[in-house]
Amino acid sequence: MDQSHTSPITVTSPLLPDLDQFGHMLKEIWDSRWITNNGSFHKQLEKALAEYLKVPYISLFTNGTLPLITALQALRITGEVITTPYSFVATTHSLWWNGIKPVFVDIDPATGNIDPEKIEAAITPKTTAIMPVHVYGNPCDTERIQQIAEKYGLRVIYDAAHAFGVEVDGRSVLTAGDMSTLSFHATKVFNTVEGGALVTHDAKTKQRIDYLKNFGFENEISVVAPGINSKMDEIRSAYGLLNLRQVDHAITLRRNVALAYRNGLKDVPGVSFFKDLPGVRHNYSYFPIFIDADTYGMSRDTLYFKMKDHGVLSRRYFYPLITEFSTYSGLPTAIRENLPNAHRMADSVICLPMHHNLSEENLEKIISLIKQ
Ligand SMILES: *Cc1c(COP(=O)(O)O)cnc(C)c1O
Repeated sequence: MDQSHTSPITVTSPLLPDLDQFGHMLKEIWDSRWITNNGSFHKQLEKALAEYLKVPYISLFTNGTLPLITALQALRITGEVITTPYSFVATTHSLWWNGIKPVFVDIDPATGNIDPEKIEAAITPKTTAIMPVHVYGNPCDTERIQQIAEKYGLRVIYDAAHAFGVEVDGRSVLTAGDMSTLSFHATKVFNTVEGGALVTHDAKTKQRIDYLKNFGFENEISVVAPGINSKMDEIRSAYGLLNLRQVDHAITLRRNVALAYRNGLKDVPGVSFFKDLPGVRHNYSYFPIFIDADTYGMSRDTLYFKMKDHGVLSRRYFYPLITEFSTYSGLPTAIRENLPNAHRMADSVICLPMHHNLSEENLEKIISLIKQ
């Protein structure tokens, strides 16, 4: 097929605010001459997000990695932390930046999330916390993880970068554990270009987080902790406020894409995918499919490159596993034999294009490419 006249179908497309509305807000910011440091739009976005996400306390950050690093600091996590190899590298990089040793546990193939039944065996006297990830927005078994944490006196920090707006039985997944972090990167369901947040459960903890993300300043003359600078500015806060108004619509459009994929691919031998879980409000942040090469008749990578040749840019999220990168590959728990499910998923996954702008024509093209 000749692709020279058509632009590629990208894996994602950022949700962008209306430019005129954004222009009006920029004018307000220009008039106020207050462009960062807890300004009016920053306050408005925190309040609006807390309401939308059904969480009591949220602190805005300049990206989704610094809230992970800051959460570990705030809870004074040291030693070893139990986590998953099936995630974006920022999850374990946040541990590394705090001098903490990641301990890898295998995943549950039904969700892609850390398998709670394998956590206890990985606990040592040095373990202080668990850092699970709600992969693709699939909620972790938060109850089981909490039980284990309480039994062993461990903290739980969720990397909820994929879980914006995800609810279980009407309750936000962000209320689980001690803290949850979000990413508002351009590729995520809700974006502020770059951005992120940290969800906490009480006013005192939020206060501490707010000091930590502003160098530790309590007031003009008092620094209470060696904080970092991770503030979100007024321009991105305004952008976020506008995007928040349209994120529900974007999620509905993403849901339609997911339904079309499921319908189009349901009878393709060797191709499997997740179904909606009962009681869960999904956000359709990604649409991963899993290729069984023997049944499908082609390897995952062959299909991946074939789609690429036809202008369909999918992504192999999460391949390679975090444990394959040189920083982590020497750790005792990074060995392949410890992580069979994670390796199987990493070796079979393709995340198909998924966003609010995907046309029916492009959807059909992607589905027919996979069917061929
Ligand atoms: C996107 C992402 C992050 C990092 O967020 P940034 O905003 O890009 O810093 C962390 N964890 C996971 C699982 C992610 O997908």
